[in-house]
Amino acid sequence: MQGLVIKSTGSWYQVATEGNRVVDCRIKGKFRTKDIKTTNPIAVGDHVDIELEPEQDTAVITKLYDRKNYIIRKSVNLSKQAQIIAANLDQAFLIVTLASPRTSLGFIDRFLVTAEAYDIPAGLIFNKLDLFSEEGLEILAEYQDIYTRIGYPCYEVSALEGTNLDEIKDLLKDKVTLFSGHSGVGKSTLINQLIPDKELKTGAISDWSDKGQHTTTFAEMHEVPGGGYLIDTPGIRELGIIDIEKQELGHFFPEMRERLNECKYHNCRHINEPGCAVMEAVEEGEIDESRYESYLSIFNGNDTRT
Ligand code: GDP
Ligand code: ZN
Repeated sequence: MQGLVIKSTGSWYQVATEGNRVVDCRIKGKFRTKDIKTTNPIAVGDHVDIELEPEQDTAVITKLYDRKNYIIRKSVNLSKQAQIIAANLDQAFLIVTLASPRTSLGFIDRFLVTAEAYDIPAGLIFNKLDLFSEEGLEILAEYQDIYTRIGYPCYEVSALEGTNLDEIKDLLKDKVTLFSGHSGVGKSTLINQLIPDKELKTGAISDWSDKGQHTTTFAEMHEVPGGGYLIDTPGIRELGIIDIEKQELGHFFPEMRERLNECKYHNCRHINEPGCAVMEAVEEGEIDESRYESYLSIFNGNDTRT
């Protein structure tokens, strides 16, 4: 029987199967992830095969299907190991506010670069529309112009007042979606609007905590009414930047990516090289200056900038 992992505690997994039945599962056998060492073999979002255990309500996971993408967290103490937070994401949205708190362009760009590196389609949701002054709305239009021009869809909502939420509901339909954002941008408010009854259906065994739950918090997927899942990642509110080779960084800026072949030198870093097509495009206003600044900032390792 095929299923989708919607919750994990490290040793037990909740798997949603056809007909939306949720079964508590354990792992049998070894599952390895190509290229990286992981602390957890199976993650939320994984597609698996399960076999029901005779005379019990539980099952074992017998097969892990290939992942189209995944996001990881590096283990703090075991530097070479990584924890897979979630797999098979269809899209990731950054919740952005221009005031209280202000999300900087640098922060937006780091999120987008990370999503590119993970191979996850990304977009921006501007929240707290109800608070925008006329000047705020002008800045909003500028921001939206910067990002829609390079292919990132932008939405504007008020989670508090329920403005434009139907658009977001349509976006989520039948997709696995990750929301990210600074603390205070209204992520919880938005999620509560989208999933009023944010309570996971549980399997036959009611006391989940009996099953050796780790102290670590793992990601969870919440079913969206009407189809689709929202990934909740306790502990990581923000999709941090992952290790990217400096030489590769330009590939994760779509507007640079399309010009990389036009640079005079194939190993151009787009910093001070003659005949750099990226810098020319910046000068001609074809590449937004703030995006180029973010490129330099990430290139120079100023990752703490917000
Ligand atoms: P989180 O930290 O991202 O989960 O943010 P919360 O959902 O806890 O929201 C932080 C604060 O912003 C709360 O006081 C919310 O009521 C408020 N808030 C959230 N969405 C909106 C909105 O659309 N408009 C306004 N004015 N306030 C909002
Ligand atoms: Zn260049």
